[in-house]
Amino acid sequence: SLSDRLTATFKNLRGKGRLSEADIDGTAREIRRALLDADVAVPVVRQFIAAVKERALGEDLSKALNPAQQVVKIVNEELVNILGGKTRNLEFAKTPPTVIMLAGLQGAGKTTLAGKLSKWLKDQGHTPLLVACDLQRPNAVTQLQVNGQRAGVPVFAPHPGVQSEHEEATGDPVKVALDGVAEAKQKLHDVVIIDTAGRLGVDEVLMTQARDIRNAVQADEVLFVIDAMIGQDAVTTAQAFNEGVNFTGVVLTKLDGDARGGAALSVASVTGKPVMFSSTGEGLKDFEVFHPDRMASRILDMGDVLTLIEQAERSWDKDEAARMAKKFADQEDFTFDDFLAQMQQIRKMGSMKKLLMMMPGAANMRQQLEEFDDRQIDRIEAMVHSMTPHERVAPKIINGSRRARIARGAGVHVSEVNGLLERFTQAQKMMKKMAAGGGMPGMPGMPG
Ligand code: GDP
Ligand code: MG
Repeated sequence: SLSDRLTATFKNLRGKGRLSEADIDGTAREIRRALLDADVAVPVVRQFIAAVKERALGEDLSKALNPAQQVVKIVNEELVNILGGKTRNLEFAKTPPTVIMLAGLQGAGKTTLAGKLSKWLKDQGHTPLLVACDLQRPNAVTQLQVNGQRAGVPVFAPHPGVQSEHEEATGDPVKVALDGVAEAKQKLHDVVIIDTAGRLGVDEVLMTQARDIRNAVQADEVLFVIDAMIGQDAVTTAQAFNEGVNFTGVVLTKLDGDARGGAALSVASVTGKPVMFSSTGEGLKDFEVFHPDRMASRILDMGDVLTLIEQAERSWDKDEAARMAKKFADQEDFTFDDFLAQMQQIRKMGSMKKLLMMMPGAANMRQQLEEFDDRQIDRIEAMVHSMTPHERVAPKIINGSRRARIARGAGVHVSEVNGLLERFTQAQKMMKKMAAGGGMPGMPGMPG
């Protein structure tokens, strides 16, 4: 996965206070590959990487993150930004009906979406009307009628029942759209959803027709519907539709397939328009409001790692980390009191065990993490609390009889005290190595 590759790239970089250009280049290469794998268009990738690099070079490292995590965090934030930041909701007209028009290539999923969107609106208490303006494709009107029936939403169509499977509907789509809106006004539908015709490729006739409909009905929202599987073609298609109809939002369909959503990024990036909904199947319910953050994760294939990074940043006490860094800079010894403080940090993260295992850099402590158990921390704390203040700062004096006393005090076997002292010594060594500063201060006291 990307996170594994990043870990490899950054293996030797822990402890740096600021990323160098060379450091970032390595990560940028991996991220570039991840974006291309996700089918983000090449020019978009190029521009994106340049922006990320600039930001990564300008930022001081967060103490809670290692450099790879830091770059991934920046990448994630930039992705979310491009995808529109927050979820953009439909804007309803002050005076109903709100007119929503769907545009896009043939097969993108407009007619299917019309049904889903109408059902979604209906479930929220709206009274939508579907309007069939695809008079180009044989059977298109019937298809919308079927979808409308499923959704329980009425359909306004030019010649109900007349069109046959092999016959193109006749009529002027602009007139149908206007008649549909008039019907909605008359019958008090508060939303009108206009399904339009598409072509296999972008062409002027299609675009002019879509623009004419848009202007005639004064559409409040024009949703550009695009198949997520379209890949590298997303950019040219989106640009053409943006210039042609000046859409207000994007709907990404067929996200149930292999597509990793690169089209979303390409489209949002070149048009600056937000992705508003996504479609994940042929069924009426396979439809959801689009979440930029989830899509960013999908594109990066990072899953919960990003959540983890946020949690680690939140739960790792920065002051504590700074205190430790200073301690070592001053060449002070790591004591059992420090060890206890570390334990408390670890306990905060204990609930994140599953996530920690996925963390870049976690590979070498996977086994310890697997054995991680909150109760072990309780026992460790009990043992440290059974030590005298002097023992805690000078653990070397803890001989056999002191070990027996500590074991008795904590209610554990003496072998556990031995184990703790061993781990403490390891932790002490590790902390010394990390004294150079920066990076996430590992898990020195991790039971295992
Ligand atoms: P239109 O030409 O833009 O109106 O596209 P349609 O709504 O007719 O959809 C074209 C095909 O894609 C149909 O077979 C739909 O069932 C299918 N389809 C639409 N949306 C999705 C989706 O989100 N996932 C999948 N798997 N298929 C979809
Ligand atoms: Mg259609």
